Amino acid sequence: MLTNEYVKRVYAQVERRDGDQPEFLQAVQEVLESLQPVVEKHPEYEKVGVLERLVEPERVVKFRVAWTDDEGKVQVNRGYRVQFNSAIGPYKGGLRFHPSVNEGVIKFLGFEQILKNSLTTLPMGGGKGGSDFDPKGRSDAEVMRFCQAFMTELCRHIGQFTDVPAGDINVGAREIGYLFGQYKRIRDEYSGVLTGKGLEFGGSLARTEATGYGLCYYTAEAMRVLRGDSFEGKTVVISGSGNVAIFATEKAQALGAKVVTASDSNGYVYDPNGIQLDVVKDIKLGHRGRIKEYAERVPGAEYHEGCAGVWTVPCDIALPCATQNEIDEASAEALVKNGCTVVCEGANMPSTPEAIAVYQKNGLLYGPAKAANAGGVAVSGLEMSQNSYRLSWTFEEVDAKLKSIMETIVADSLAAAKEYGHEGDLMLGANAAGFVKVANAMVAQGVL
Ligand code: NDP
Repeated sequence: MLTNEYVKRVYAQVERRDGDQPEFLQAVQEVLESLQPVVEKHPEYEKVGVLERLVEPERVVKFRVAWTDDEGKVQVNRGYRVQFNSAIGPYKGGLRFHPSVNEGVIKFLGFEQILKNSLTTLPMGGGKGGSDFDPKGRSDAEVMRFCQAFMTELCRHIGQFTDVPAGDINVGAREIGYLFGQYKRIRDEYSGVLTGKGLEFGGSLARTEATGYGLCYYTAEAMRVLRGDSFEGKTVVISGSGNVAIFATEKAQALGAKVVTASDSNGYVYDPNGIQLDVVKDIKLGHRGRIKEYAERVPGAEYHEGCAGVWTVPCDIALPCATQNEIDEASAEALVKNGCTVVCEGANMPSTPEAIAVYQKNGLLYGPAKAANAGGVAVSGLEMSQNSYRLSWTFEEVDAKLKSIMETIVADSLAAAKEYGHEGDLMLGANAAGFVKVANAMVAQGVL
């Protein structure tokens, strides 16, 4: 509930201006609610309008992306880049290609990114971008032409010291390669303008694994500190079967857990013997197939149509790794009823506010996305450092830094939660810890 007058005024302004952007309003409301004890303790933030400025992007770029498909037909998509906040570093955040992308979705992701990047302790501002382009069923050549058209416009707004995009849903190694190639061709400049690059041209070892591994490092540390517990012997439900889900499954298994599900936007598979990750990798990374194929190949596994059913599978730990608002109130209640006591978010904003209320009411250990999935952008930050140094660290070096960053995020979140009177609250703690650093930088730099 919003009770603080300053916070209420700022939220009312956002509602008036962006009332047609439900995901953005949802993200802003959650953050503002957490920040009430912080602005009460720091009246200096209101004096220079920190919150009013925080909720308004520094710049929103929206552009036409025209390209020709394999039949010679002209297709027109919309491209976006939201440069939200550069108080602590160049804008940094992924690109998402999905038919559901619109300005409100990119704004919610960019807004979350500000505090997430701050939590990593690395110098990165917040941004996000993407397009309503749907790569499903498109040939490699079509994806390449789309990426080239997209970058032809985007390249005038980004740069290694200005704005450094990365991947997100449907933007992986293939797309980053095409985007990087086009940037280099147009600008005649070989720089670390994108992260998630191939290892041959400036990418970092462990970037591919970073979000999923980081999610498990975060979850393991939070369970250790708050519960004296671990992944060992636990049953884990994971949604999605993309980059984050695959590497979360890999690390959870390595830490001794049994992962029993994988899903995509059509449905989910339940494997009581534990997911065979090599089969999922072959389906998704090998030939971009559908998860249904898993049940056709693995004896004893079941396929169910409809992705929301995954939350009815009994588990100890749930790691949502697909998309926003994938867990609603009913799904959260099903999780609790079936014994789940830990929810840590790999996807961005996968839980609705009603679902979060269910976690809180039932005392679940809840790790919010901006903290739990910060490992991806953290290693992107490390990729930027390696590009600047013009050297590459080993997998072990990057992985050790990632683990240490995730453990620091848990510690910083818990310290902030305690400082602002909500001991043990990882959500309030993440929002407060991420915010204070950005807010202090904004105060120091004057009204911009
Ligand atoms: P991928 O494109 O690799 O995988 C996305 C997965 O989620 C696929 O299994 C996809 O199924 C499923 N999915 C996507 N949209 C929907 C939907 N509307 N309903 C149901 N399922 C859906 O993306 P990532 O793994 O990179 O991203 C997953 C989540 O993690 C996103 O929320 C992203 O923002 C977040 N994230 C990613 C980071 C990264 O480093 N990649 C960093 C931090 C957060 P299908 O193939 O059927 O579409």
